[in-house]
Amino acid sequence: MPDGTPARTLRDIPGLIAAGLARASDRAALEAVAARYAVAVTPAVAALMDPADPADPIAAQYVPHPDERVTAADEHPDPIADEALSPVKGIVHRYPDRALLKPLLACPVYCRFCFRREQVGPDGGVLTEAELADALGYIAARPAIREVILTGGDPLMLSPRRLRAILAALDAIPHVESLRIHTRVPVAEPSLITEALTEALATDKALWVAVHVNHAREVSPAARAALARLVARGIPLLSQSVLLAGVNDSEAALEALCRALIAARVKPHYLHMLDFAPGTARFRVPMERARALHRALRGRLPGHAIPTLILDIPGGRGKVPAGESHVARAGEDWIATDPWGAAHAYPPPVAAPGESR
Ligand SMILES: *Cc1c(COP(=O)(O)O)cnc(C)c1O
Ligand code: SF4
Repeated sequence: MPDGTPARTLRDIPGLIAAGLARASDRAALEAVAARYAVAVTPAVAALMDPADPADPIAAQYVPHPDERVTAADEHPDPIADEALSPVKGIVHRYPDRALLKPLLACPVYCRFCFRREQVGPDGGVLTEAELADALGYIAARPAIREVILTGGDPLMLSPRRLRAILAALDAIPHVESLRIHTRVPVAEPSLITEALTEALATDKALWVAVHVNHAREVSPAARAALARLVARGIPLLSQSVLLAGVNDSEAALEALCRALIAARVKPHYLHMLDFAPGTARFRVPMERARALHRALRGRLPGHAIPTLILDIPGGRGKVPAGESHVARAGEDWIATDPWGAAHAYPPPVAAPGESR
């Protein structure tokens, strides 16, 4: 960076301009965006950006863009209907066996494509003690809930003390068998993954951490070290990425991302189709292209390095795999398409006597 890496998190347009990350000529437009959607660029993330590259895949994710002022006709402030599925504040409950718990709505950075962008922000969204007790009570009263997913905002923005209290309360609910935390902290503010924080994550129940990462460069040395600190505590790591035009919509970018994740001991898990959040049209990758990119990973990467292409059906109808199936019906039998595109009967054809296959 020409001006050196900023020492503090950049939270406004003048700060981004001064750091060389936004153009002064865009100031008025970007001020209008910042008045509507939260802005934060941590020093760790700013250090990954190349201000000389107008198409920088890191800057594209975090630096506001004038196009965010326009909400397209197909975009919606609550694209996957969290609100309609929220029985009490801080809970989203769509599947009988899993519930989301959102203890706060602050994040280390604010992604320009976030599906909760109308809700997340630095001021607000922290559940009060009473609200948290109500949310935990909702979970405790429903034996069908087997997994609690802490999300937000970013749960790892909580103090270790508060996080410990929430995890201890969940640990004490007998029917909750496993916990999951969705976070961008290891990438966006790896220094927050302290000894005290990883200690707070010690649970009796299995705790899985799903890390939001979209580009190989985000798996920086500091991020790798933070992830290693979680692994050292016995925490299994999954990734979730969003397929984003201008960030990772090429075979090479996706392959590099998946390889960087595997090398950091993170299982590439979900590659999300972008939700229809307001002002995000510039990131959209059409389904046809998304499926072609996803298909190209098969045969090119180890099996465990390939994420599932996943679509959260708009309106809160649930997540479904969006990739192509390699196996299709053919009358009574099936046809399997190999990684190179050739079709094969399944079960295999039975050789006639005396014939070799
Ligand atoms: C995404 C989501 C989940 C978790 O789904 P998985 O496929 O298990 O990751 C659970 N509840 C809600 C409301 C969700 O949006
Ligand atoms: S970290 Fe997650 S919740 Fe926060 S702005 Fe980014 S995508 Fe949204």
